[in-house]
Amino acid sequence: MKRVFVILIAALTVLSGCKAAPKRFSASYTDVFDTVTDFTAYCSSQEEFDRLSKAAHEELLRLHRIFDIYNTYDGLNNAKSLNDGVSGEYPKELCEIIGLSKQWYSESDGALNIALGSVLSLWHDCREAKVLPDADELKSRSAHCDIDGITVDGRNIRLSDSMMSIDLGAVAKGYAAQKTAELLESLGAENFALSVGGNVVTRGKKPSGNWEIGIQSPDGGILMTLSVSGESIVTSGDYQRFYEVDGVIYHHIIDPKNLWPASLWRSVTVIFEDSSTADALSTALFCLPYEDGAKLLEKYGAEAVWVSKDGEITCSEGVAKYEK
Ligand code: AMP
Ligand code: MG
Repeated sequence: MKRVFVILIAALTVLSGCKAAPKRFSASYTDVFDTVTDFTAYCSSQEEFDRLSKAAHEELLRLHRIFDIYNTYDGLNNAKSLNDGVSGEYPKELCEIIGLSKQWYSESDGALNIALGSVLSLWHDCREAKVLPDADELKSRSAHCDIDGITVDGRNIRLSDSMMSIDLGAVAKGYAAQKTAELLESLGAENFALSVGGNVVTRGKKPSGNWEIGIQSPDGGILMTLSVSGESIVTSGDYQRFYEVDGVIYHHIIDPKNLWPASLWRSVTVIFEDSSTADALSTALFCLPYEDGAKLLEKYGAEAVWVSKDGEITCSEGVAKYEK
């Protein structure tokens, strides 16, 4: 009898520990950050995945509205309200991203500047109209891009110059991907990849091993495949948003030093655990010469892959350990 009891206990233990083998589920959202977001996770059931996916989507929508510079939303002070001069309390995420961006501004010697909004909005309008901006207009707008003119005091934010505006395009997707990954983990998600328009965050692994993330080649196809577990991979590239005038391509990342599209690289990909930092670094490195970019990477212990104008690939030392 005693023996039967022991066997029964052992069988129950095995059964209770036997959760369904995780299966791959995925979902896409097209209504956040003007791009396509893909969420893939290994879960034990469709219900579990749907619960996580709903939470991720809602979080991304919430952050999208906060960082939106084109639309306002009832009952919310967001980036557009700030640019419109609205005073009052702002969401803590807007205060935080501005604080981080001020730090990245000084670390990158001004290469990443979220106060460049007045210059970037001129480039935006010119891109829509497929014309080039007037050089004098660019210069006069550049007088309203001083990041020290943004003050954050508790939850109050003020722009000291009424002609000034913020643009969070270089940092918002990475920040949102990071916050959403943190939320997913707090809800019990362990093995997932979240790509907010190519800003990829990975956590855990697939049952077969690490996540495999392809870096896009600026000319199409895959440049390199990285094998990661826990890292974020973020690329800034001249092929992501651009227009053409008289056979010349003008892309969307503006060098604050001369106010024209940065001309050193075709793309820069950053590999780093924190996705907000990876997003900020990829834009900053895109505007910086190799030596300055490499120094900035070293400060964070991040890795990068640069693709030069003539297609030459340069990798920081640690990239090799991720290469497949
Ligand atoms: P990313 O794709 O992350 O490199 O960000 C590019 C976006 O950041 C652009 O579409 C602009 O909205 C904004 N941007 C462009 N140049 C800069 C810059 N030098 N500093 C900060 N934001 C920028
Ligand atoms: Mg960026």
